[in-house]
Amino acid sequence: MLPDLVDSLVPSLIELRRDLHRNPELGFSEFRTTKRIAEALEAHGLPLTIRDAGTGGWLEIGEGERLVAYRADIDALPLEEESRLSFRSEVPGVMHACGHDAHTAIGVGVAATLAARGDLPGRVRFLFQPAEEVWPGGAESMLEERLLENVERIIAMHVDPALETGSIGLKPGPITSSSDRFTITFRGPGGHTSRPHESPDTIFAAGKVITELQGLLSRHIDTRTPVAVAFGAIHGGEAANVIPAAVTLTGTMRVASLELWETIGDLFIDLVHRIVSATGVQADINYEKGLGPVNNDPEVVWAVERGASEVLESHCVRSTYTSMGAEDFSVFSARVPATLIRLGCKIEGHKTTLHSTRFELNEDAIRIGTLVGAAAVLALLDG
Ligand SMILES: [Zn+2]
Ligand SMILES: [Zn+2]
Repeated sequence: MLPDLVDSLVPSLIELRRDLHRNPELGFSEFRTTKRIAEALEAHGLPLTIRDAGTGGWLEIGEGERLVAYRADIDALPLEEESRLSFRSEVPGVMHACGHDAHTAIGVGVAATLAARGDLPGRVRFLFQPAEEVWPGGAESMLEERLLENVERIIAMHVDPALETGSIGLKPGPITSSSDRFTITFRGPGGHTSRPHESPDTIFAAGKVITELQGLLSRHIDTRTPVAVAFGAIHGGEAANVIPAAVTLTGTMRVASLELWETIGDLFIDLVHRIVSATGVQADINYEKGLGPVNNDPEVVWAVERGASEVLESHCVRSTYTSMGAEDFSVFSARVPATLIRLGCKIEGHKTTLHSTRFELNEDAIRIGTLVGAAAVLALLDG
């Protein structure tokens, strides 16, 4: 029954996805996108409540005490599209390169499928979330608007171009990583390069941090926990014969563990100070906590697996990996038992990655995603 319902929707979902792909909008500017979602839902008699800000919205279907939620993110990225698609972006410098156009279409598809099926053993709240790609993002806004209130469990899906189309990937525990940002400013009096013993050397101190930090982290953290620290920018100095008075170094720290995320900032600050102390340079550290890891709740994973196994062959329900990228669904997963499902969207013979200007996805994933989303929601309400 679910497959028939989904099949009848697929042409309109693909049309919606292509329309959104042609007209991508950046985080917190998804006004047209939101209107298109409202129209698409309206065609099924489903009223979207648009957020006061005009971007994103929510919808509830079903009746009863129990309440689960399904989240679809709707924003695009500041990239100039270079794909081969006939329906490529018509907005200069903006592109759906993370598949959120597909996520949106799938969210509409899951709502329409479940509404058409009827007889739900509870309520489902659909969150069409703006601004996943910016920080602080739309998940934070929706949380402040109390849209997670009374939600018992929440799920979301993300396309994965490395996973075969027709398959989904599941994993209990962290499935994405945290992402914190830091800037270290190395300060000294500045001086002549002929007398480095008289002027604490800011560039030498920055070099020590770059080369020593990674090794020291691996001696303070259980090596079975994924950690990635990397530097994105370094600035300092003008002349060959002047030790600069300031050098700045910025980067990100990522960990795939909720527990470690709590303490990693303090460890980072402590280690940097200890590395730098022998140089006589002063290190001013600005460490900014960002998103936490998305932590998949094992029971929600099992419920999704049960639901998915009813609509997919068993070899298509796979285990997946932990990404070192971040995802703001973590704002929800930190508060309510949650699961982020990876949705295979691989195009055979065409290698792409998320956030690439050449990103493309296999549109069969829209049918699979809608089917799995609907079956997973039913399993959540059943369990
Ligand atoms: Zn993204
Ligand atoms: Zn994304």
